[in-house]
Amino acid sequence: MKPFSPDRVIFEPRSLDYPLGRKIQDYFEGTSTEIIKVPIKKISSIIPGSTEGQRYASGKKTLVVTVKKSLKFDVCKPSADFEFSLVAGCPASCEYCYLYTTQSSKPYLRTYVNLDEIFDSIKKHIFRSGDRLTTFEVASAGDLLAIEHITGSLARTIEFFGTLDKARLRVVTKFNNVDSLLGLKHNGRTRFRVSINSRYVIENFEHNTASLDERIEAASKLAAAGYPIGFIVAPIMIYDRWKEDYLELFEKLRSRLDAVKSTETVTFELIQHRFTPAAKKVILERFPNTRLDMDESKRTLKWGKFGRYKYIYPRKDAVEIREYLTSLIGEKFPDARIEYFT
Ligand code: SF4
Repeated sequence: MKPFSPDRVIFEPRSLDYPLGRKIQDYFEGTSTEIIKVPIKKISSIIPGSTEGQRYASGKKTLVVTVKKSLKFDVCKPSADFEFSLVAGCPASCEYCYLYTTQSSKPYLRTYVNLDEIFDSIKKHIFRSGDRLTTFEVASAGDLLAIEHITGSLARTIEFFGTLDKARLRVVTKFNNVDSLLGLKHNGRTRFRVSINSRYVIENFEHNTASLDERIEAASKLAAAGYPIGFIVAPIMIYDRWKEDYLELFEKLRSRLDAVKSTETVTFELIQHRFTPAAKKVILERFPNTRLDMDESKRTLKWGKFGRYKYIYPRKDAVEIREYLTSLIGEKFPDARIEYFT
């Protein structure tokens, strides 16, 4: 797919004190992208849009270059011990996106330039874990592959983790922008998980992402470059012919990966579709004609942190999803490891 190019890039002035901030400024000099410098509190007011749709579209075409202030990382179960961010937001428009309720009506992308401070904090978190291996998820707040051609932040982070004996990095993506990462000294310490789904889910709900073929090709390249790889199948949905579609997905994945010889175990993470009342409201405003099934009467409640709840499939359906996908993976990838189903 074509690399992302924002309509405007906004620099928080302090970001230009950092080499990465200046590198990003150089990247955009002389291009058609508008360059703006304003304090962080004025950013929202200069992104255009008078309707919900316009504000959403303008936000998705805006890149903000800033400094990460909080360097205390949250726990990130079940996928890792901690999560940290190099980027927040994403230029794609998945109708079910789990980030919508954490963003404003102008969901601009943010990239952080104080990488050395973030790396120092990673070292402190590892130190506090003692002798055990500590895992870090870097893609919980956005898809950093989408702007890696602009920042190069992930490449630096992969090489940083390549020097750490007691830590592992975990990346997730729906983009295929991996060529700049293939020759890095990663030392097998970064696991890439490519987000995949049935043709129906990708075509109906995952707008402006790489196609399934592009994602599988990216996974093959990463495996050939020696990275441990995995796949996140999410969100898994039940609809007419869902079983045929997920069978087709795993058949395609198997045939495309046949030529790839990976010394590492391929992993799978399985996540069923869920939504919160707040997310449903935002989704219906942004995608009034969505075909997403958010019928509460067909779901069951799951309580989360701070008394919040979400709607997930009832136990009978969830068991059917888990057993069906587990059997497909067992048949097509007998040596793979399923890390969790949630
Ligand atoms: Fe959200 Fe991920 Fe889709 Fe981006 S790729 S819109 S972060 S679900």
